[in-house]
Amino acid sequence: MPLADNIEHVQRRIAAAALQAGRKAEEVTLLAVSKTFPPEQIRAAYDSGLRVFGENRVQEFAGKIAALRDLREAEWHMIGHLQTNKAAQAAELFNHIDSVDSVRLARKLNSAASHLGKKLSVLVEINIGGEAAKSGVVPDSPELETLLNAAPELPFLDLHGLMTVPPFSDDSQQSRPYFRKMREIFNHIAECRFPAVRMEALSMGMSHDYEVAIEEGATCVRVGTAIFGARTSL
Ligand SMILES: *Cc1c(COP(=O)(O)O)cnc(C)c1O
Repeated sequence: MPLADNIEHVQRRIAAAALQAGRKAEEVTLLAVSKTFPPEQIRAAYDSGLRVFGENRVQEFAGKIAALRDLREAEWHMIGHLQTNKAAQAAELFNHIDSVDSVRLARKLNSAASHLGKKLSVLVEINIGGEAAKSGVVPDSPELETLLNAAPELPFLDLHGLMTVPPFSDDSQQSRPYFRKMREIFNHIAECRFPAVRMEALSMGMSHDYEVAIEEGATCVRVGTAIFGARTSL
C-alpha cells in the first residue's frame, strides 16, 4: 500500500480505538517511527500530514537531518536507548528525548541543553516487563524515585510523562496488562506531585498493539511498520 494509504488507515484505526475507549482521537498523537528509512520517505510522510517522528539512533539521525531541515513543523523524538556519551549530540539534534532511563543520563542532557540554551522535552522510559535486555527504569525501583526527585535540579529538562516498550508478543492482548500497569504508575506519579514533574504524556503502543494501548490510556503511539512497511535492517 502507498504511504498515504497506510497513514490514513492507521489514523482511522486510532480514531476508532479512541472512540471505543470513550476518548477523543485528538488525545492521541501518532508518532511515526522512521528509523532505517531514508529522508525521502520521511518527507513523503510529512507531505501526507504527519508531524511527529521518532528515531532510535543518534548517528543515523545525524546523517538524515540535513536533508530534512526545511520541514519546519516536524517534531523529532529520540526513542531509542541513549548512551551518556551521546547525550550532548542527542541534545543538539533532538528537542524530545523520550527514552531517559537514568539520573546520570538526565544530568548529562540537562547540562548539554543548558550549554545549547534550549529546553528539552523528556519522558522517562519504564522497563515495564523488567526484561534484562531492555532499557528503561524498573518500576518501584529506587532509580525511578531518584530520577523524579532530581527534576527540580534539571531546569533545562521538561519532564512530562512516561514511555514504555512491553515484552513482545504477536498477540496484542498480551500487552494489555503491561499497558494497564503503566497507566497505574503514571497516575500514581501524578498523585505524588513531584516538584517539576508533570504527567501528561504516556507513550506506548507500536504497530501490532497500538489500539490496545489507546484503550489503556496511551496519549502517544509509536508506529513504524504499519506506516513505512517492514524494515530490512535494524
Ligand atoms: C521501532 C520502534 C517502534 C516501532 O515499531 P513498529 O513495530 O515498527 O511499529 C516503536 N517504539 C520504539 C522504541 C521502537 O524502537
